[in-house]
Amino acid sequence: MNNSSHVFSGNPLDRGHRERRDEKWLLEIAGSPSSKFLLFYGSQVALSQDQKKSLLWTNPEVMDDFNIQTTPIFLGLMNKQAHFVIDAEKSNIPTKLLCSKFNSTFEEIRPAAEKVSKEEASIIAQAHSQLIWHQNTIYCSSCGSSTSMRQGGQMRLCDNCNMEHFPRTNPVMIVLVSNGDYCLLGQSHGRLANMNMYSALAGFIDQGESIEEAVAREVLEEAGIRVSEIKYHSSQPWPLPHSLMIGCHALADTTDIHKDEEEMIDVQWFHRNEILLALNNSSKLLSIPGPTAIAHHLIKSWALRQ
Ligand SMILES: [Zn+2]
Repeated sequence: MNNSSHVFSGNPLDRGHRERRDEKWLLEIAGSPSSKFLLFYGSQVALSQDQKKSLLWTNPEVMDDFNIQTTPIFLGLMNKQAHFVIDAEKSNIPTKLLCSKFNSTFEEIRPAAEKVSKEEASIIAQAHSQLIWHQNTIYCSSCGSSTSMRQGGQMRLCDNCNMEHFPRTNPVMIVLVSNGDYCLLGQSHGRLANMNMYSALAGFIDQGESIEEAVAREVLEEAGIRVSEIKYHSSQPWPLPHSLMIGCHALADTTDIHKDEEEMIDVQWFHRNEILLALNNSSKLLSIPGPTAIAHHLIKSWALRQ
């Protein structure tokens, strides 16, 4: 499996790194009738009501029609057309008005990503992560003054101290640890909805830490297991809000589980046969995350010895 196979990856847009440095070009293209505008409403994205769900792309008139005051964020170019995103919630426009005008619906990004094409799901990821980052970077983290958007959204500049702020991505390692025909899965406190749901262990990579060091530390912290032979598998952008999941496999050097009581509800070794049943949704004991999540693919590739 390569990176672009994961949901939220494989973005078809050319992010226009050269073009976006030209503020005059950005202003002109944002008003061009050929440019396309994607609408968000907080954490929801507009989908067309067509039989096959797809993103609703409007045109620059939406800015005047609904008196939208926020600066559109430039996502990139495709077929020479500029693609932008705007958050209509910021302009207090009732969703009802937008839905009736465009015959659209607003849906939360995760279910929406499962309805649209893979390419469009990756645009949702980019757009949502950008919107969240801008919302959280209105003020300079150094001096507290206001910041302004530059380069179509790829930078914010402090209006006072000129500090440059760039969109951030939080690296998260996720690892499937195995020992012969058994693999290690855990249940963290966030997954109470389904008590049979177990997943690969995961955690944020700390500052001054390599991927391998983060894997070894997190597995030791969460499960009390020591690991080696850490191998990279693939990565997945995760737009809730702006993480990068870095998927690995590792071999266990020890087998006695000592779970972190604060973080984990349970950690267990599961036999390959149980995993194969869970992959077919036919296990009575175990549920694993679906194919939207990289965890599914880490588990599957181990279980099928791929
Ligand atoms: Zn500042």
